[in-house]
Amino acid sequence: MKTIKDFNFKDQKALIRVDFNVPLNEQFQVTDANRIEAAKPTILKILNDGGKVILMSHLGRPKGIQEKYSLNHIVAKVADVLGKPVKFVDDCIGKKAETAVNQLKNGEVLLLENLRFYEEEEEGDLQFSEKLSKLGDIYVNDAFGTAHRAHASTTIVAKFFPTAKCFGLLMAAEIESINKVLKESKKPVTAILGGAKVSSKIGIIENILDKVDNIIIGGGMTFTFIKAMSGKVGNSLVEDDKLELALEIMEKAKQKNVRIYLPIDAIIADSFSNDAQIRIEDVNNIPDGWMGLDVGPKTNVGFSFVIAQSKTILWNGPVGVFEMPKFAKGTIELGNAIAEATEDGAFSLVGGGDSVAAVKQFKLEKKVSYVSTGGGAMLEMLEGRVLPGIEAINN
Ligand code: AMP
Repeated sequence: MKTIKDFNFKDQKALIRVDFNVPLNEQFQVTDANRIEAAKPTILKILNDGGKVILMSHLGRPKGIQEKYSLNHIVAKVADVLGKPVKFVDDCIGKKAETAVNQLKNGEVLLLENLRFYEEEEEGDLQFSEKLSKLGDIYVNDAFGTAHRAHASTTIVAKFFPTAKCFGLLMAAEIESINKVLKESKKPVTAILGGAKVSSKIGIIENILDKVDNIIIGGGMTFTFIKAMSGKVGNSLVEDDKLELALEIMEKAKQKNVRIYLPIDAIIADSFSNDAQIRIEDVNNIPDGWMGLDVGPKTNVGFSFVIAQSKTILWNGPVGVFEMPKFAKGTIELGNAIAEATEDGAFSLVGGGDSVAAVKQFKLEKKVSYVSTGGGAMLEMLEGRVLPGIEAINN
C-alpha cells in the first residue's frame, strides 16, 4: 500500500482529495470539525516536507452552483484547525484554479471550490478528471468516506497519475484497521452486529462467516432470528420476509463452525418510548403488546464473556435503542466489555453509523483500537467489495 510516507513532497504540488463534507449551521459555521481534524496529519506531513497543498472536496448535494454549498464557508475553520492561513479559489478546474495553484508557494495551502458544483464530478467524467489532474504533481486520496464512489476526484483522476498517487494517512489507517479484522486477524475473532434490521447487515454477515469465530447478534434484528426459531416476539421489530434467511444464516454458520450468539433475555417495553413500562423477559417469550428494545442482564453477562475471550473484535450496530436512556444499558455494557478486552490486548474496530455515535456518546472512543470515519465505505469493505477509490491507487 503506497502512502504519503513513500514520497518526499518538497517542491511538489499535492492534489489531495479530502472529505470536508462537514455540517454547517444557519450562519454557515462549521458545527463539527472532526473530518477536518482527521485530514490534518496528512496535510501537515506534506507541508513539513516543503510541498504545496491543494485541497479538493465536496460539500452537501448542490444542484449546480449554489452559494450555500460553497467551501468558502469553511476556509476559516480549516485555517483554524491547521494553524495556518488557507487560500481559496472559487472554482475547482480551469484557468482560475490553475492560476491560484501556480501562485502557491511551498508550505502554502489552497482550498478549491466544491467539486459537486460540476455534475461531471459524480459522473466520474474523464475530461473533468483530466482538468483536475492539471492542478497537482502527486495525487493523494485521504477521503475514506467517499472511497466507495467512482467519482472523478476519488477514483478517475488517479488515471492521470500512473505512479505519483498514494493514500493519505487517514485512508491508510482505515484500510489497515479493516484488514486487521478481515485479513490478518488474531483469533478468536468476534463480530458484533446490532442495529435495526437483518436486511441491511446480510451482506456483511455473509462475507464475515468465513473470517470470524463468533457472531454476536443484538438489536432489532434479534427478533427476526427468534421468530424464525418459533419464539414469541410480541410486537418487536421483525422482518417477516427474512425469516428463511435467518435460518439459512444459522445453518451456514453451523457448517462453517462459526458460533452465533443471540440474546437470551430482553428488556421489553409496552411502547417505543422512554416513558414506557419495562420489564425483563426471556427473549423468546415476549407477550403481545410488548417489544424488546434492549438486551437483558443475562445476555449482557454472556456477551461480555465471549468478548473477553476475543483477540479481534468488530462492532457494528447498537444492541438496543441506545438513544433512549431506558434501553441504553446493553449497548453501554457491550462497549465497556470491548474496552476491557482492548485493554487486555485485543484489537477492536468500531464502525458504521450508529455504533460510532454510541461510542462517542458513552465516551469510549479512546478505549477501542479504532473508530472508523467512513460509514458506507466501511460497510462495503466489510461486505467484501473492492472500493473504486482504493483500487484506483493500488492499480
Ligand atoms: P442500524 O443503522 O441498522 O445500525 O440501526 C441502528 C438503530 O437500531 C438505532 O437507531 C437503534 O435505536 C435501533 N435499534 C437497536 N435495537 C433495536 C430494537 N430492539 N428495536 C428497534 N430498533 C432497535
